[in-house]
Amino acid sequence: MTSTDTGFSFTAGTSIPDRLGRTGVITTPHGEIRTPAFIVVGTAATVKAVLPRDIEALGAQGVLANAYHLYLQPGPDIVDEAGGVGAFMGWSGPTFTDSGGFQVLSQGAGFKKVLAMSTAGLASDEVIAPGKDRLALVDDDGVDFRSFRDGSKHRFTPEVSMQIQHQLGADIIFAFDECTTLMNTRGYQEQSVERTQAWALRCLAEHQRLTEQRATKPYQGLFGVVQGAQFEDLRRQAARDLADANVDGQQFDGFGIGGALEKENLGTICGWVNEELPDNKPRHLLGISEPEDLFAAIEQGIDTFDCVNPSRTARNNRAYTSTGWYNVDTLGSKRSHAPIEEGCDCYTCQNFTRAYLHHLTRAKELLVFTLMTIHNERFHVRLVDQIRDSIDGGFFGDFRDDFLGRYHRPSRAGSQ
Ligand SMILES: [Zn+2]
Repeated sequence: MTSTDTGFSFTAGTSIPDRLGRTGVITTPHGEIRTPAFIVVGTAATVKAVLPRDIEALGAQGVLANAYHLYLQPGPDIVDEAGGVGAFMGWSGPTFTDSGGFQVLSQGAGFKKVLAMSTAGLASDEVIAPGKDRLALVDDDGVDFRSFRDGSKHRFTPEVSMQIQHQLGADIIFAFDECTTLMNTRGYQEQSVERTQAWALRCLAEHQRLTEQRATKPYQGLFGVVQGAQFEDLRRQAARDLADANVDGQQFDGFGIGGALEKENLGTICGWVNEELPDNKPRHLLGISEPEDLFAAIEQGIDTFDCVNPSRTARNNRAYTSTGWYNVDTLGSKRSHAPIEEGCDCYTCQNFTRAYLHHLTRAKELLVFTLMTIHNERFHVRLVDQIRDSIDGGFFGDFRDDFLGRYHRPSRAGSQ
């Protein structure tokens, strides 16, 4: 389909000289996303502890919910009846859902996170986290798994994931993929990339069938997901195959980069993949949010990001600032009658002090979750907005060097 048929399109803007990075605009049926953009995560159709109007006020251009969680609770039919995930949660802007593959498989191995995992001497396809039972089993057709909620048995296939994501109705949806870990062997990674490619073609076919069947609904852009772990040849081949994938004229509307990424190679891996992908389609990096990672990925051509980290860490009292992060529940904040960060334009910093936030943590008051999340989400959204402005203004390199030169993690501010 062409963009004029669907209401979904991407227009590239300014490029970073001699790099893959660029600005652009993704147009969806629920509005535009100016890229690069940080997409806020609302896993269960809610950004935990924060109202949608506050998410809009802090500048978020889109929200990403999770197909696996919404499948288990409340069920995609109920979200469909409500008019899709945006209408259901009271968010009028663009929405994304991820395919459920990462959640199904990462919980299957018992790990919550694969990024930056130390893998020295651990290569094995059988490894699971200590004390965990394997909850998912992969075969060539799909994945059997048990619910993390109640242990009940379920099965996802590419077709099931597409059916769920069509019922959830987000503007941007992702093909069902197998997410490996850095501990899997080279042989397994090769098999897995082949399997993910076969699943990608099945997703395209089912997406086309559902788009025709549900022709009165807004078009949903389908992104193929590039896997291949840390192997250059696998990543490049996977990107080429997804870029070329075409089922009866249906191609991917954009691409996601997923799976096991070593932090020190993150920019390099994005570069391998984006050299192979077409310039005229958007590219999303799944699950990344640390400032140095955002700069590296944007420089290498990533357009959108999502990550649960800003809100998850906020609920553990971690505050991000331009000089690094610190925890507001420590002594350094007890008598600090200054905002989390001087000059921050978020609602929290405009109205509350570190001493007040420290008090809320000690008194176990729920408001601290809301205030900390607003600050952290604003920090990430604003940083990516500033990076976008720096690309358009022709000073990306200076802005990156200046920002990262001041940014330490953790910050020295916590001991003030
Ligand atoms: Zn703030």
